[in-house]
Formats: sequence, C-alpha cells, structure tokens
Amino acid sequence: MEREVVVVGAGPSGSAAATALVQQGHDVLLLDQQTFPRDKVCGDSIPAGAIELLYALGMEERIREADFYSVDRFLLCSPRGYVVEADLTYGRRFGASSYVVPRLHFDVLVQQYAVESGAEFRQAQVTEPIVEDGRVVGVRARSNGAVEDIRAKVVIGADGITSVIARRLRPDRLEDRHRAVALRLYIDDIDERPHQLEYYLYRRILPGYAWIVPIGEGRANLGLGMRLDKFRETDRSLEEMLAIFLDMPPINKRFRNGGRLHNISVGQLNLGSQDIQRAFDGALLVGDAAGLINPLTGGGIRNGLVSAVLAADIIHEALAEEDVSLTRLWKFDQLCRDSLRSDMRRAYFAQRSLLRFPALVDMLVRWGGSNSGLGHILIRKLQRRQA
Ligand SMILES: Cc1cc2nc3c(=O)[nH]c(=O)nc-3n(C[C@H](O)[C@H](O)[C@H](O)COP(=O)(O)OP(=O)(O)OC[C@H]3O[C@@H](n4cnc5c(N)ncnc54)[C@H](O)[C@@H]3O)c2cc1C
Repeated sequence: MEREVVVVGAGPSGSAAATALVQQGHDVLLLDQQTFPRDKVCGDSIPAGAIELLYALGMEERIREADFYSVDRFLLCSPRGYVVEADLTYGRRFGASSYVVPRLHFDVLVQQYAVESGAEFRQAQVTEPIVEDGRVVGVRARSNGAVEDIRAKVVIGADGITSVIARRLRPDRLEDRHRAVALRLYIDDIDERPHQLEYYLYRRILPGYAWIVPIGEGRANLGLGMRLDKFRETDRSLEEMLAIFLDMPPINKRFRNGGRLHNISVGQLNLGSQDIQRAFDGALLVGDAAGLINPLTGGGIRNGLVSAVLAADIIHEALAEEDVSLTRLWKFDQLCRDSLRSDMRRAYFAQRSLLRFPALVDMLVRWGGSNSGLGHILIRKLQRRQA
C-alpha cells in the first residue's frame, strides 16, 4: 500500500510536520528509530518563537497544562567577565513564554500530539530512501528484525543531524565552519539564577562558549560548544574546556556538595549559515536534517518548526495538484530562505564578529551592562526572533 506522506524522525520538526499534514486531511506515517519519551542532547531552551508555532498547531492548552519551567531573563558574560542582563519578554508581541524543558519531556508532548491528531506512529529505523529514476518513492525501514519497503508519494526527512535521507540525497557534508560540537550535562545542586538563561564567553574557554540554564529546584542544564573548524584547531578536548569552565570561581562557588554532574553527552549541530538544497524530487528535508540551527545561539527548535510548517503547506498544495516533482517542491527551498536567511546571515555575522573581536564583545557588553535600555537592545539584536 502506498502512503501519502512518510515522515522520517519524530523529533519536534517531524512531529510538527506530521501534525500540520494530518490537520489538512492527509494520511501520514511517522517513523522513528526510538520509542518516546527519549532524550536528545540539547540546551533544553525552548524559545517563545517555537511555542507560538506549536500554539498555532493547537497545542496551547497542552503546553499550559504541562506547566513547564519558564524563563524570562537572559545574562551574557563577556570574555573579560563583564555582564549584561536583559528581560526576554521586552517588546514581545505574542502571548507565548520561553521555557526550559528537558527534551525527554518536551519532545514526547509534540510526538503524542501528532499521534492524537491522526498520524500513525511506528518504531522503525530507516536505512535509506528508495530512489527510482531520480525520484524518492519511499523508504526502506527495519523493525523487529525485518526490512520493509514503504512506498509514499512524498517523504519528509526529519531525521536530525545524522539524517540518512539527507546523506543519500545531498552527499556533500556541510563545511566544518558551518557545523559545531557541544557537550551537555545536568547538575543537581547548583545555586541557580531562577528563570534566567546564562551564556558565558570567558576568554579561557574561547573559541567556545558555555551555558547554564535552570530547570528548577536547584537543577540546571549546563554545556559548552564550539564551531567544528575551531575545535579541530584547538589542542584541548571539550571535556578539558568544560573542566576549566566549571573550575572558574564565579561558577564553582555556586556548586553545593561539589555539584553532582550526570547524563554527560556530546552532540553535533548543523548550522544554517551554509545555503544548501532542501527540496528534491518527492522529498523535503526539515529541521536538523536540513541544517537550520541558528549559527549564533545554537538554537534549532524554532527554525525546525518553521521548516516543518512550510513543508506541510507546500506538500498539501503539491498533493492537491498531483505533482510532487522537484519543480513543484522547489518553492520550499525558496520559502525557507525567505523566512530564515536574513536571520541566519545576521547571526552568522555576529558569531564571526564574536570569534574575531572578543575585545569588541567586552566593550559592547560593558556598555550594555551599564545601561539597561541599551542592554535590552543588544540582547534583542543577538536573540532576534528566537526569544
Ligand atoms: C548540545 C546542543 C544544545 C542545543 N541546545 C539547543 C537549545 O537550547 N535550544 C534549541 O532550540 N536548540 C538547541 N539545539 C538544537 C536542537 O537540539 C535541534 O535543532 C532540534 O533537536 C532539531 O529537531 P529535529 O526534530 O529536527 O531533530 P531531532 O530532535 O534530532 O529528531 C530527529 C529524530 O529522528 C530520529 N531518527 C534519526 N535517524 C533515524 C532513522 N534512520 N530512522 C528513523 N528515525 C531516525 C531520531 O531518533 C530523532 O527522534 C542544541 C543542539 C545541541 C547538540
């Protein structure tokens, strides 16, 4: 039996695309190699921009009921230790809040909603897309030891950073300067700054940056990340740099009982600063599979959701016209660029400036820190549309 749409990957991007498609009356099979709930290495910061998109899919009540830990303040610490703080709700036009939610809890909510909306979920590992005459006509999937070919009119590759769909359709990898690596862990006994996201650019951990984000009751998600090309140039491991960060007096003094660290994992990020093809004959890539992470903040959930909703709309039109060729689906690439490219360019410019001119960052943060109005403007420029 041919399915209308197969979505590979039930993370936020895949589940949102599945939801948007079933809401428009389509038959959707949602595949993931894992069962939910499942963890995903992440900073766990869910910006208000992402929450707004989930509200638009009808999830407002569920999100309010889930009573997630909200964040409304932001702190940025410069290489020399100057600090600027800002209100994340400053100038916000919409009703949504930003949250910090371990992905173990967040992703299952979005995946469950897709299923309750009408998508069929199946645990299966996709090994490759089926390509005939240059067109994607389905996926090959393994489940319970059996291999099955599932045919579909359209395939959405939402299978994250290691996407098998992207690897087959777009074999060239992103350049190292458009990729990043990061280490994430949880800490159970820290003097947290309630409801505040903290980002650190200390000189001793450059060209990396670290974050501490509270999840309530003295617990936090903590991590350190770096652009991949810079990581290859340094002779220090992420673990060594993290140890330096944890040992710095302003950080170390906040640990109670020595700080209990757990669930340490490494993750990769595909940054949206490289322009790549995301539409193919019979298939689209969304979220991390499409390389859409903000190159400055490392945030990818909102952009993943933006791409998911656009993909669903384009596929809805294409199915109605019975034309899922690249010529018809190409519009997706264009709409992704229209929606995200100026933000990506600005973020990439800011990221390169931070790396090249740390003294400028000190100056800006010191200037912003001494004037709360300017601090708001600085943070809003850096966080534009993410917060
Ligand atoms: C250390 C780190 C910190 C980050 N911090 C933040 C942050 O604070 N805020 C933010 O917004 N973003 C953050 N990001 C980015 C964010 O995690 C991603 O952008 C986001 O998870 C993308 O969602 P997705 O649905 O596209 O992919 P994913 O969430 O990765 O989901 C992909 C799904 O596909 C499934 N899958 C993979 N391969 C297959 C296969 N072959 N067959 C079947 N299923 C498959 C996986 O099991 C998974 O469930 C961070 C990333 C890292 C690495």
